[in-house]
Amino acid sequence: MVKQLVAAQNDFFATQKTKDVSFRKQYLKKLQQEIIDQEDAICDALYADFKKPKFESLATETQFALSELKHAIKNVESWSEPERVSASWSNFPSKEWIQPEPYGKVLIISPWNYPFMLAISPLIGALAAGNTAILKPSEFSTNTSKIISRITRKVFPPEYVTVVEGGVEVSQQLLAEKWEYIFFTGSTKVGKIVYKSAAEHLTPVTLELSGKNPCIVDETASIKLAAKRIAWGKFINAGQTCIAPDYILVHKNVKDALVKHLKQHIMDFYGENMETSNDFARIATDKHYEELKAMLEGQPVLFGGTFADKDRYIAPTLVDEPQLDSTIMEGEIFGPILPIISYTEESELDTYITKYPKSLAFYVFSENKKFQKRLMYSYSFGGGAINDTVVHISNKDLPFGGVGASGIGGYHGKHTFELFSHHKSVAKRGTWVDVPLRYAPYSISMDLVKKIKHLFIF
Ligand code: NAD
Repeated sequence: MVKQLVAAQNDFFATQKTKDVSFRKQYLKKLQQEIIDQEDAICDALYADFKKPKFESLATETQFALSELKHAIKNVESWSEPERVSASWSNFPSKEWIQPEPYGKVLIISPWNYPFMLAISPLIGALAAGNTAILKPSEFSTNTSKIISRITRKVFPPEYVTVVEGGVEVSQQLLAEKWEYIFFTGSTKVGKIVYKSAAEHLTPVTLELSGKNPCIVDETASIKLAAKRIAWGKFINAGQTCIAPDYILVHKNVKDALVKHLKQHIMDFYGENMETSNDFARIATDKHYEELKAMLEGQPVLFGGTFADKDRYIAPTLVDEPQLDSTIMEGEIFGPILPIISYTEESELDTYITKYPKSLAFYVFSENKKFQKRLMYSYSFGGGAINDTVVHISNKDLPFGGVGASGIGGYHGKHTFELFSHHKSVAKRGTWVDVPLRYAPYSISMDLVKKIKHLFIF
């Protein structure tokens, strides 16, 4: 089946239909209308998958995708225009430009944690850029995957866009095919597998991966607000957010105040009996739930720490000064567990931060501008924020992505269009004159070649 779909998409792309910007726009509009019509059903599916609160589903999934769609529909024509550049005088007479062109058929593989948004957002850019797409959503968010499949079946012919549901095996079948572009969101471990498969065909990739995101709070920070913004960024989606703060490094003089305010804000958000809150999601998979429970074993819990197997509930939890060699500090936590580690001297921070590969996100809470700047410039990370968490994702002008182990490439807004486009360079020469300097016999222009330095650089 995979081979047939791939062949059908190759044939469809070869018809050149997707090169027509009005064709792309027409389908983006259809997708927009279908998401609007199905918004409640999408929220229901997300609730069925992991009790995702409706507000969070609207804010971080459907409305996020709709905003990307609106932006793409409005701008796809201008994005697709050739960009004229100044012609090189050595090419005189010439007009030169960059022509964005679609790659062809692209494969999009997405995870379960924001299962709608992380499947649809890259799709929007892929289609705006004129590609065809096969989308493989996660096997763990089955209800959302089904509705994504239903929506795409209704909006697109399969030779243009198809959803292929399934797990690792299906994903591997897809990866065995030749793609013109692969966009993968998921763990760093699987990202490496995807990269290897892509290398077989020299297929370009975007890899949106994971990291252990530090959140640093110094003595000067506005502690009450810091606690509120950290608690929000950590516990939204029950901590299953790739850019959630993973652990806190707090100056020892303000640790007690930070912990006090974190507890208070968590209770303000979810009530005293957090398990009954309608505003707190569940862990999406059994495997991940068990891993998180195991991480908590033997840890000094400051707050929370309770769980319920029946619906994979893990309470918003604060862990006090975990050992650096404990599983909780080994890799990304990806759940509602927040370790709090204190430091005394700024120089100590480096030991923690550099223990891990380059993170996907990085947060600093401080009123000290020099401290903010030192940290933001000293460390390499995908993206981040000063005095807040997660919010950098909301600006379409900011490319969203990782660096090093946390990923390759950045997307959102125009960046997604750019990423799914090949930038073709074209020089259109005039024929009314032909400057003879480049032709043999070279003795005629030998003296000129050093003076006119870039004349013969190809
Ligand atoms: P995952 O890597 O296990 O799976 C992602 C996708 O890859 C799924 O569709 C899955 O079916 C497929 N897959 C899994 N194993 C495979 C294999 N061996 N070969 C081929 N395909 C395979 O990730 P997940 O558990 O679904 O998602 C959570 C991870 O994703 C976290 O690490 C999180 O940080 C990361 N993530 C990153 C971003 C980002 O934007 N950078 C966003 C969300 C999640």
